[in-house]
Amino acid sequence: MTTARAYAATSPTDPLALTTIERRPVGPNDVLIDIAYTGVCHSDIHTIRGDWGPIAYPLVAGHEIVGTVTEVGSEVSRHKVGDRVGVGCMVNSCRECVNCLAGLENYCLKGNTLTYGSVDRDGTITQGGYSTHIVVVEDFVVSVPENIPYEAAAPLLCAGVTAYSPLAHRNVGPGKRVAVVGMGGLGHMAVKFAHAMGAEVTVLSQSLNKQEDGIRFGADHYYATSDASTFKTLADSFDLIVNTISAPVDLQAYLSLLALDGTMVNLGAPAEPLPVSVFALMGNRRSFTATSIGSIAETQEMLDFCAEHAIAPEVELIAAADVNAAYERVLESDVRYRFVIDAATI
Ligand code: ZN
Ligand code: ZN
Repeated sequence: MTTARAYAATSPTDPLALTTIERRPVGPNDVLIDIAYTGVCHSDIHTIRGDWGPIAYPLVAGHEIVGTVTEVGSEVSRHKVGDRVGVGCMVNSCRECVNCLAGLENYCLKGNTLTYGSVDRDGTITQGGYSTHIVVVEDFVVSVPENIPYEAAAPLLCAGVTAYSPLAHRNVGPGKRVAVVGMGGLGHMAVKFAHAMGAEVTVLSQSLNKQEDGIRFGADHYYATSDASTFKTLADSFDLIVNTISAPVDLQAYLSLLALDGTMVNLGAPAEPLPVSVFALMGNRRSFTATSIGSIAETQEMLDFCAEHAIAPEVELIAAADVNAAYERVLESDVRYRFVIDAATI
C-alpha cells in the first residue's frame, strides 16, 4: 500500500480538505504514478456536490492526471519507471463487451470504472487525482509526449479528448466548416484542434469578450450569440457544430445553422432534457447527437496529435489549498481556460 496525501470532499457543501488515503498495492498489471499535475474539471464539482446523484464521502476528485511512473507490476509492458504518463476519466472497463472489444472503453456496455467515485474491482470506491499518488492498471495509462508542457498536458486527459473525439470521428479537415459553441475549457481546445485539422472554424460565444483569444487559438470567425442577427447571418452554413455548453440551449436556433447533412454534437451534458423540433432536423437532413469522452486509443492519438501540432491547453496553475476558491471561479466561468493543481503543493 502507498499512503497518499489528497484533497477530499467530505460533504456536498464543505470545502475540500487535506487528508491521507491508501492506494492499493501495485498488482502485476498496475503502475504507481507520482502525480505532478491534475486539472480541475467542471465534472469534479458536479460530482462532489451531488448534482449527478448521491455519492459516497470522503471523495477525492480529479480525472486529468499527469505524473511519473515510480513502480511497475511484474507483467507491465507498456510503461516503465520514469515514464511521463497520463490518466483520464476511466481506470478500467469490463474488457469483454462488444464496445470494449472494439477499443471503445468509453462506451463499455457494463459501465466503465471511473477514475473517482466508481466501485473498483476490489469493492472500494475509486479516488482521483487531487492527490500525490495513484495506482492504475497499465492499459488505462497513456504516454504523455515530452514536448507537451507538463502542467498543460493535464487538461488534455478529459477536456482535450472530449473535444478531439467528435472532430476526429467525423474526419474534420480542409473544406469542413466547423462551429464551436462556447469558449471555455472544452471550447478553446475544440477551436485549436479543428484549426490544426485544417477546418474553417467559427466560434459562437455569448459575447465577444474572448474574441481576441479565439482568433489566437485558430478561429477564422467569431460571433456573439447574444446578437440575434448572428443566427440570420450564419443560417445553413456549417457542416458540424460542436456544442460545449452544459446549460440548456435553444437547439432549434443552433440546428438552423447546419447546412445539408450537417451534424450538431453535444459535448456538454445538461441535467434537463433538451426539446428538439423534428422539423428543425428535416430541413437540410440534419442530425443531432452527443459524445462521451474518448477511448484510451483515441486519448493517445490526441496526445500525439498535440505533440505533432504543438497544441496545448491554456492553463492557470494553482496550489492545492486554492482549489476551493478555484471552484467558485469555475462556477462563474472566470477561468482562462483551465485550472491545474500543482501536486507538489498537496
Ligand atoms: Zn472532466
Ligand atoms: Zn465493456
